[in-house]
Amino acid sequence: MDPSSIVDLSHKLDSKVQVYPGDRPFTCSQCATVANDGYSVHVLSFSTHTGTHIDVPSHFIANGKTIDQIPLPSLINPLVVVDLTHLDLQNRQIITWEDIKPSADRLGPGVTVVLRTGWDAYWSSPKYYEHPFLAKDAAQRIVETGVRVVGVDTFSPDETPYQGVGGEHGFAVHEVILGAGGIIAENLTNLAALDGHSHIALVPLNVEGSDGSPVRAFAWKA
Ligand SMILES: [Zn+2]
Repeated sequence: MDPSSIVDLSHKLDSKVQVYPGDRPFTCSQCATVANDGYSVHVLSFSTHTGTHIDVPSHFIANGKTIDQIPLPSLINPLVVVDLTHLDLQNRQIITWEDIKPSADRLGPGVTVVLRTGWDAYWSSPKYYEHPFLAKDAAQRIVETGVRVVGVDTFSPDETPYQGVGGEHGFAVHEVILGAGGIIAENLTNLAALDGHSHIALVPLNVEGSDGSPVRAFAWKA
């Protein structure tokens, strides 16, 4: 590992954190101060799907694995970036297997696949809800290659219903990937900084029974 090559792929958890429609807000409040108490302490409140985070099988699958049951090595993998930015994806455009196919020979067991749409540029704006999303059969083809960790630079690999628009496809992609025992990383950012980076880590909090957790996602050159 070349530590100087590390690129942070996580959004900062701050007052601008945009949460999934209907989700609880992120808050960070100070409950002790150096001036009053001699030390500083903050209290965090957030959903398990806040900011850059991972979904594990129990998010959608009854009796699926919870985050504390996921071995850390399965979240630290060779990285395959599928760059879709040349497609100039539009609001709510469906990403098809044809779009992924040119990268098919790089997909396989043990790699983490990251779909780069460029939509992280719209983080913290209404357009972020209108992200492109993956077709169910494309998710199935990805899983068939043996891939079990899929990341996106959007809210979700499925369409995000917002203000009465979208959602007809449900959570098909979540069900395909999590149903195969896989893991989904959402709200990745800074993928434009990747330049031959070979590995990625998605390190969650070890919360008993949780269906997800914020992660500090980062990539590096081996
Ligand atoms: Zn999630």
